[in-house]
Amino acid sequence: MDSCEKKRNQDALIDRSGDSGVKGIISKGAVVQFGLRRLFCVSGRRILVGLGQVGSRGDVSGKAPWPPKTPFMNYREWRNRMKERADQYFGSMVFGDEKMREYLSKDTYRQLKETIRVGKELNLEIANQVAHAMKEWAMAEGATHYCHWFQPMTSITAEKHESFLVPSSEGTALMEFSGKELIKGEPDASSFPSGGLRATFEARGYTAWDPSSYAFIKENTLCIPTAFCSYSGEVLDKKTPLLRSMEVISREAIRILKLFGRSDVKRVVTTVGPEQEYFLIDKDLYLKRKDLIHTGRTLVGARPPKGQELEDHYFGNLKSRVSAFMQELDEELWKLGIFAKTEHNEVAPSQHELAPVFTTSNLAVDQNQLTMEMMKKIADKHGLVCLLHEKPFAGVNGSGKHNNWSISTDTGLNLLEPGDNPKDNAQFLLFLVAVIAAVDEYQDLLRVSVASAGNDHRLGANEAPPAIVSMFLGEELTEILDSLADGTDCPNKERSSMLLGVNLLPPFPKDTTDRNRTSPFAFTGNKFEFRMLGSSFSVSGPNFVLNTIIAEQLSRFADQLEKAKDFACDLSALVKETYSKHRRIVFNGNNYAPEWVEEAKKRGLLNLVSTPEALPTFIHAKNISLFEKFGVLSSSEMHSRYEIVLENYCKTINIEALTLVDMMRKQVLPALSAFSGTLAKSFMDKKAAVSSLSLSYEAGLITELSNLADGLDKEVSLLEQQLLEARMVEDISSESYFYHDTVLSQMAQVRSLCDTAELLTDQQYWPIPTYESLLYSV
Ligand code: ADP
Ligand code: MG
Repeated sequence: MDSCEKKRNQDALIDRSGDSGVKGIISKGAVVQFGLRRLFCVSGRRILVGLGQVGSRGDVSGKAPWPPKTPFMNYREWRNRMKERADQYFGSMVFGDEKMREYLSKDTYRQLKETIRVGKELNLEIANQVAHAMKEWAMAEGATHYCHWFQPMTSITAEKHESFLVPSSEGTALMEFSGKELIKGEPDASSFPSGGLRATFEARGYTAWDPSSYAFIKENTLCIPTAFCSYSGEVLDKKTPLLRSMEVISREAIRILKLFGRSDVKRVVTTVGPEQEYFLIDKDLYLKRKDLIHTGRTLVGARPPKGQELEDHYFGNLKSRVSAFMQELDEELWKLGIFAKTEHNEVAPSQHELAPVFTTSNLAVDQNQLTMEMMKKIADKHGLVCLLHEKPFAGVNGSGKHNNWSISTDTGLNLLEPGDNPKDNAQFLLFLVAVIAAVDEYQDLLRVSVASAGNDHRLGANEAPPAIVSMFLGEELTEILDSLADGTDCPNKERSSMLLGVNLLPPFPKDTTDRNRTSPFAFTGNKFEFRMLGSSFSVSGPNFVLNTIIAEQLSRFADQLEKAKDFACDLSALVKETYSKHRRIVFNGNNYAPEWVEEAKKRGLLNLVSTPEALPTFIHAKNISLFEKFGVLSSSEMHSRYEIVLENYCKTINIEALTLVDMMRKQVLPALSAFSGTLAKSFMDKKAAVSSLSLSYEAGLITELSNLADGLDKEVSLLEQQLLEARMVEDISSESYFYHDTVLSQMAQVRSLCDTAELLTDQQYWPIPTYESLLYSV
């Protein structure tokens, strides 16, 4: 990204960060408030949900796919056309500030803004007027329904559609939408995962409007972004902890900034730009594979002669079907106010990536969910299927999601920007060591935040970072911190005079900080890139963890520095001490190298290779007390999440194994039998015709295929047996280990025989589309 573009992003950020607000009054029922903080009260229990920002318009014309789809158009023409399209569409399906001004009376708009600014209780009258305005706008755009849109503990978003239609007393139909309907919903929550938090007899759940995220129209439905909790107030969604964590990190960062004399900062926001990887394959082929339909990944499939070894797909020309898909996707995302920006081919055949322009964390979460949903829907319209699974194909790269993260002030300062004066340098170093300490101390939480059955196939498989969490800072920055900690001169003389708060931190070239693509957590000049996320993840989990663990360090720093007699001196000592204590987490080398595993072990770093191993650390006492301290999650909410994720892990592998059994019994074994039967028949016919023929090809193949079929039958039976055993395992942790250690390895056994058989079988007999056809069909 060039510097002008960075400036534009920054400007957009400043624009968007004007709102501030304070804690509001709550009453029983659901009181939802606009503004920096909202309080939502159910049964007298408070749920604090936090701030967010709204997107603003930006220049999206810069980096769209080139060359254009229409030939004979020069770059300038094409660029202008893109800009026109973007101007026409951008944000048209979002009830943002512009629409609010248009549809609300001046007075209501002012009152609404005021409510946001001072964080007063939301007056039902205003809510009614806002709801009415939203409905008018939505109906003008063709909407007939509304829904509370929320993010339960499944991998997708949920929505319950209600029509605007109500009967009037005269028996005619009216279109209505009230303030009450806007701010609170009551979906039947019994079939969403709760991890034992909610007994079915109290199946009610509540959704509460999150006004920090804009309402939008999707498929003729006005969608209201909401938080979701149980009747007794326990959080049941992915969004609420994120909103709370944003609140917490803002509070703690402001304490630190005050110490640097930045009392003008009223609000600090975390920003996220998630780079989304995905595969596109042909829909007709997809429909012929039960594994893709039921599990999102291929469970069998011999490697094609050509994979990704020639590296000819990465940034290659887009195929016309793919570019038509991307063009429509861009337009639909722009309508939803999402800055879809760069799109290109990825490493594996049929793999692609979309990167949006970053925005405030809570918006980034919503937008990424919508992006994934749109990818699937639009692919379908183009006769394609979008695969978001982390490992759809063995032997070629899987898909991840890079979570670019930073922290900025409402005054437009990126706190991870090294700055160019001594004060900024010192402040930067303090925030930097806060991140270093957080990542080291809470390696386990970061690992848990990216744990899933799908992602287990990627982490540590030489295509993604290993399961060991470490950080890349780049040589320059590491040198500076090392010399600070060791009290030595920086080897580079130019930098040697650098001392905290005294001399300038030398400008280090940003591109050198971005070379290491193997690091799970890399500093890239003015942000961190957390690269361990799986492609299908909600970015909410990793981000509420990041925000909270960094808030914790900032809070400790503030406790210490607020008491400092000599601020510069204590600050220097603190940076030095913190880095010395946590420097083991910094690793600038090749994370894919086997030696790193050994080295990491020596350093005492965790290597939690699988989900069953990683997950139990989530409920370790230190982690529970962290989340409880900041009110991000309660102990029972954490236990419930632990159960939900582990249960999901077991269910996922169970479905995969059942699908594999089904495919072997109903498709592959019959095919092998048919093909060897045909061979046998032809063997007999030939023998009858010319008895002296050797027919060693037929005889050999019949024998090999029959042996493979026998072996496969045996291994499939064993897998079936194990699936029965899995049901008998009582506790969830042992069950997850059983699936990991026993069932998954048995599935690999089955796969290996099946893939061998595939290579020997006449393609007319092979019952499922091969890797070759799947990967090269579009
Ligand atoms: P790459 O990782 O491919 O080198 P970029 O530097 O362009 O790419 O950034 C990748 C992503 O990081 C984009 O989505 C971008 O919007 C996001 N990003 C850039 N700056 C920030 C920031 N301050 N906070 C969060 N995300 C950011
Ligand atoms: Mg990246």
